[in-house]
Amino acid sequence: MSLRTKSAVTFLAAILMLVLPVLADRTVFRTAWNLFTVQQDIEMGRTLTDEADSSLSPVSDEMANTYIDALGHQLSVHAPGYKYPYQFKIVNEQTINAFALPGGSIYVTRGLVEAAPTEPQLAGVIAHEIAHVVLRHGTQQVSRAYSAQASNSTPGRVSVSAVMSDLDLYFDPNSIALKYSAEQERQADLMGAQILYDSQFDPGQMPLFFQTVQQKSGSLTTDFFNSHPTSANRVARVRREADSMGGMPRNLRGDSPDLHTVQSHLRGESTEPVNRDRTGTNAPDLPSTRMVAYSGRDFDLRYPENWRVSEDGDVVSIAPTEGMVSGDLAYGMRIATFDPQGSTLYGQTPLVGPGERSGRTTLSRATDQLLDELRRSNPNMRVVRTDDRSRRIDGQSAMAIELTNDSPAGGRESDLLVSVLRPDGLLYYFVGVAPERDFSRYKPTFDQIVASVRFNN
Ligand SMILES: [Zn+2]
Repeated sequence: MSLRTKSAVTFLAAILMLVLPVLADRTVFRTAWNLFTVQQDIEMGRTLTDEADSSLSPVSDEMANTYIDALGHQLSVHAPGYKYPYQFKIVNEQTINAFALPGGSIYVTRGLVEAAPTEPQLAGVIAHEIAHVVLRHGTQQVSRAYSAQASNSTPGRVSVSAVMSDLDLYFDPNSIALKYSAEQERQADLMGAQILYDSQFDPGQMPLFFQTVQQKSGSLTTDFFNSHPTSANRVARVRREADSMGGMPRNLRGDSPDLHTVQSHLRGESTEPVNRDRTGTNAPDLPSTRMVAYSGRDFDLRYPENWRVSEDGDVVSIAPTEGMVSGDLAYGMRIATFDPQGSTLYGQTPLVGPGERSGRTTLSRATDQLLDELRRSNPNMRVVRTDDRSRRIDGQSAMAIELTNDSPAGGRESDLLVSVLRPDGLLYYFVGVAPERDFSRYKPTFDQIVASVRFNN
């Protein structure tokens, strides 16, 4: 879609990727008694991981494995304390289960991934498992069991292999290393909430996922609730922790199409052919679930990591590399400004005060003017519908319109145009573009980008 307007303001922007730690009043965890050193957690974990890997069958779908590994690491980089060698794997089982071995091996079942309604809920259970690793709950349980044996009344330094053989400890879904106490569950909830918050997920999605699991058939979830005893106060506890960290994280991450693509892969309905352009040229990969920061002069936002930002005078484009077809945008988002008066930037009437423009306009009138302007360079553009839902960008009323147009990739494209009228009288507009057949896979990403926008002025 061509988005040239004569009267747009140039905004030059610098890309800053700063991650400032938010360390408000969060729960601080005290180190609990543990027979083992951190290195021994890793050592015991290795033995258990080898056993788990040889007794459980992994999912072979490469896309699903890549996805869970990426999502897991996006969360584990925010795990406090020792940096364990985290790995994330999907077990090919229809049961709904997730467990963490000491030292950082985290497993989720295929049934669990398929049962997750949204990515933030899936992230919730993974963050909870990461917390069990950080808090060393597995080796704590083993320590307790070992010291409870009369013959080990005053254990000093122990060897992992000796303890494992004394306790006859091996990998098993019901192993003592995977059966947590109510107190450990409480701690994993709180630290899981912190990890979610730091990864820009809503911490409340974690207890929501536990509720989702609870609604499933008991035979599918026995192991899950054996490991992670249900706690009645989970929702309230996580909400309190989120509140004390300052409520919702900035640039909240919503659902991602990646999870749903993975789910259909796992269900054996490969979506691969649908994503390929019918003319034989390759469509870009779907937008990544990992969002990164863009800091511009006038606004900040978050966009998929596998997209690129380019600035061309008055227009900022965020798109996958293959999103440009013969110099025009076929997949991605463009952001520009429009002066609703149609006057040039320097042609303001002298009768208005600073920061104010003559003939104050409304959002819908300004958006109509913009559509007229866009039609001049896009004669086949049509308005499909105006979204009546009230929508906001950075707290301000915004308007969303769905359009169709000729796609530079051939055939028709769908466009989501979201506009917001800023106090200085300029209309900012965001246009998400994808060929019609692919639009539903891109729309959640467009919504996510728009929801992350924060204006600087
Ligand atoms: Zn747990």
